[in-house]
Amino acid sequence: MIGFQLDERQMAIQAKYRDFANRLIIPNRLKYDELAEFPWEIVKAAYDEGIMNGPMPSKFGGNDYSILDGAVASEELGAGCVGIGICIDANTLALTPLYLAANEAQQKKFFGRINEEKAVAAYALTEPNAGSDVAGIKSTAIKKGDKYILNGHKRYITNAEASTFITVFALTNPEKGARSLTAFVVPTDSPGIEIKPRLRKMGQKASVQNELIFTDVEIPEENRLGDEGTGFLIAMKTFDRTRTGVAALSVGNARAAFETSLKWAKNRIQFGAPITVNQGVSFMLADMATEIEAARLMTWYAAWAYDNGQKVANKLSAMSKLLASDMAMKVTTDAVQVMGGEGYTTDFMVEKMMRDAKLCQIYEGTNQIQRLVISKNILK
Ligand SMILES: Cc1cc2nc3c(=O)[nH]c(=O)nc-3n(C[C@H](O)[C@H](O)[C@H](O)COP(=O)(O)OP(=O)(O)OC[C@H]3O[C@@H](n4cnc5c(N)ncnc54)[C@H](O)[C@@H]3O)c2cc1C
Repeated sequence: MIGFQLDERQMAIQAKYRDFANRLIIPNRLKYDELAEFPWEIVKAAYDEGIMNGPMPSKFGGNDYSILDGAVASEELGAGCVGIGICIDANTLALTPLYLAANEAQQKKFFGRINEEKAVAAYALTEPNAGSDVAGIKSTAIKKGDKYILNGHKRYITNAEASTFITVFALTNPEKGARSLTAFVVPTDSPGIEIKPRLRKMGQKASVQNELIFTDVEIPEENRLGDEGTGFLIAMKTFDRTRTGVAALSVGNARAAFETSLKWAKNRIQFGAPITVNQGVSFMLADMATEIEAARLMTWYAAWAYDNGQKVANKLSAMSKLLASDMAMKVTTDAVQVMGGEGYTTDFMVEKMMRDAKLCQIYEGTNQIQRLVISKNILK
């Protein structure tokens, strides 16, 4: 029997995140889009109201959310503002390697610190010459006594300047290349870390990114996550858990753009009637509504498959990110079109939703890389 109804707990999660988005995210999204600054006031409130770190264990300050619970929550954040939503979800991205690979003592220490300080973490995988090609990473962490010495360069690191610690991926043996990729927890105030000025970008402006330069940064051995050489697997398993979150943010963003344009179109009179009497407009709205429903179902199915240990979960999470972020790009663009000149102004923010949508096709693996993951799965 297939059921498409959220259970009571999930409906409560949906209501809680929707209420948070309505009260704190939507009234502030224009401000942060213009300021392009990390929304500390909202993140602190998110800690106070149990919105942060949902998929993390409750004994470490999370809500024990399944991946499906997390997708329900992320859709509401995305409907509020993807930029602010990703400040919250990128923290989950940074904590997931700890969830997957940290020992009890490390979890206690680092989850403890992040909750106590109501802080955020960052996830540092990408380098100037290693984006899609993660195996091309050149940063090194070479063992010296009971420490590792980290040198290298990371780019586009979300939350970096705001972070308390950074989950960094580096090679412990450059001769072995990616087979020696290893994950470490590195406190952001460690001597030798240079944080470059935040990058200027098109959308999701409340979310900040920086380049990081590591010069002889000492990492205590006890900050290594798992064994040497397990970093590649940790990074990929992290994405299996988080890509449905990007899909859900995209569904929320598209939903917000659709609802805004629908409401507006019903009241816009041209040629003596609401513009919705024209099939050129009403069919566009029909397609938008249909595509949002389809992407949500794909996202929930992928999340359910992960939660239920299905072998296809890796393929489905890539499919959900691909389908939902491409859908959101199209739906937000159509929302601007439905609203004509008004859509292009900042008054209704659909132009922002369109700018925000683009990035979901790029980060956590571009949609070409999602197709690579899917094609590898179906061809093997
Ligand atoms: C705002 C923002 C936030 C980010 N946050 C983080 C973060 O927190 N942590 C982190 O580690 N990284 C982060 N990233 C990095 C992001 O994951 C990468 O930008 C992304 O993986 C693509 O890498 P790249 O930019 O180097 O593009 P490239 O890898 O250079 O790709 C350029 C183009 O070539 C295509 N391409 C490359 N290889 C193939 C192939 N084999 N087949 C088909 N097409 C291919 C790509 O799809 C893309 O269209 C962020 C990026 C941005 C822009």
